[in-house]
Amino acid sequence: MQAQGIDVINLSVGEPDFPTPDHIKKAAKKAIDDNYTFYPPVPGYPDLRQAVCNKFRMQNNLDFNPDQIVVSTGAKHCIANVLICIINPGEEVIVPAPYWVSYVEMVKIAGGENVIINTTVEADYKISPEQLENAISSKTRALLLCSPNNPTGSVYSAEELRDLVSVLARYPDIYVISDEIYEHINFTGSYKSIGAFPELAGRVITVNGVSKAYAMTGWRIGYLGAPLWIARAVTKLQGQMTSGTTTIAQRAAIEALTGDQSCTAEMNAAFRRRRDLMINQLEKIKGIKYNIPEGAFYVFPDVSAFFGKSFKGTVISNAEELCLYLLDKAHIAAVPGDGFGAPSNIRISYANSDENLLTAMQRFKDALDALV
Ligand code: PMP
Repeated sequence: MQAQGIDVINLSVGEPDFPTPDHIKKAAKKAIDDNYTFYPPVPGYPDLRQAVCNKFRMQNNLDFNPDQIVVSTGAKHCIANVLICIINPGEEVIVPAPYWVSYVEMVKIAGGENVIINTTVEADYKISPEQLENAISSKTRALLLCSPNNPTGSVYSAEELRDLVSVLARYPDIYVISDEIYEHINFTGSYKSIGAFPELAGRVITVNGVSKAYAMTGWRIGYLGAPLWIARAVTKLQGQMTSGTTTIAQRAAIEALTGDQSCTAEMNAAFRRRRDLMINQLEKIKGIKYNIPEGAFYVFPDVSAFFGKSFKGTVISNAEELCLYLLDKAHIAAVPGDGFGAPSNIRISYANSDENLLTAMQRFKDALDALV
């Protein structure tokens, strides 16, 4: 539609709308001139792994040695690597819903079974310790946790994590894969990594990367800190599948992690302002239900009140049909919740300009008001 000249506002994207900061781009240009053009070590350059260790220690209270760090082609690659390495056929991975779409598919690729825990808007889309306990079986191998969450924006507080840890402490064979890719897009003012709880020593794989914190989605750098045997297994797998990830992007990632951090705070402030703008607009729309996101850059309203309504005789019966209607009638692109395990919801990204967001939300309201 955009190619046809139609003014579609795209609220479906999962990446910051900012360009990569200049000092990081400069480091990449220098890397080329310095001839970082040969194969890198499979788990990443030693100085990048050291920078990741320092970051984990300073920001997350996590104690890893460089040989426990593996750098891969995005946090996505890190998670896939870990699942392929630790899941035996038929073993279960607990995935709270709504979840990032790729988790459940990666678990299947790894030969595992997804055990989904459904959450509610009233619970801010977070799981309770009781729900976690009920989901555990003799086949459980791992819990996949994502905070701040895509698509709900929920952030687990230290207390909420402690309650989950008290359950996990009784099941020493369960690993936790903690996806912390949205760590720096967080409006709560504090952040706790589940790997910092001593009860879980030796069984948390912490995954992060530079995509969201430094607006570097296209550079494809993610990293993990893991128990040594898992880091070694991931390195072995990566050595056969992809080799070490792109040299130039790795050199840029060192600058991202060790250079001026003010870009991260500036982007966080912009996302927080836009979050407030989105909530102000959502408040005006009757019939939708939503949580207040505390991180990431999405709102995830429950739009099921509009299912069964119609526009000019065409009935909207689910989230996908509603998204098609919004595209067609309001020229805004959002994502149906089905792929996130939440068929009553749609995901609206606010990684867009304030001006576009205001226009889009007015169009969203008008389109929903037009349904009878
Ligand atoms: N985890 C979550 C929850 C995400 O939303 C994304 C990106 N959409 C990723 C991981 C992957 O990030 P990367 O670009 O580092 O592969």
